Amino acid sequence: KSGFVAIIGRPNVGKSTLMNQVIGQKIAIMSDKPQTTRNKIHGVYTTNDSQIVFLDTPGIHKRQSKLGDYMNQTAMSTLGEVEAVLFLVDAAEGMGGGDRYIAEHLNGLKTPVILVLNKIDKIEPEALLPLMAEYQKLHDFAQIVPISAKFGNNVNTLLEQIAKYL
Ligand code: GDP
Ligand code: MG
Repeated sequence: KSGFVAIIGRPNVGKSTLMNQVIGQKIAIMSDKPQTTRNKIHGVYTTNDSQIVFLDTPGIHKRQSKLGDYMNQTAMSTLGEVEAVLFLVDAAEGMGGGDRYIAEHLNGLKTPVILVLNKIDKIEPEALLPLMAEYQKLHDFAQIVPISAKFGNNVNTLLEQIAKYL
């Protein structure tokens, strides 16, 4: 099984940290070379029976310019072509305008979106369920997976969940 996964989320939610955590576990290739004009492969995770190619997706950012519109469009077409989308959010900061802006762009997308609640090491366990309920209002997520990218908590579960969509 193999396939492509796009990682999206506003700045500082932990996208790079998650990539480093995954790559630290098991990695075949890491490349910063642009593969196409609109994506770069950030890392390839391989196990005996699966290969997951992670794409660092440009946009989706609030930008009041033609270039911003173009970047959002190209990011959106990428999301339509991958097997799954990982939407990372910061569980400690909670929902912000940047999260809502991205979620609005996910409406109508047929690709399964996995909501990843990152930085759970910074919150009380009781805060998790209300947070999940709040985010569920934004989009019909295929899965919600809480993790700590920094400390590796639940990252293996996330990889197992991703493999279901390959
Ligand atoms: P990106 O902009 O989405 O790529 O975010 P980064 O991966 O650069 O992370 C932004 C900051 O959040 C860094 O200081 C990370 O160390 C921190 N960070 C990322 N993941 C976690 C986490 O799971 N727990 C904690 N406590 N900090 C994290
Ligand atoms: Mg980054």
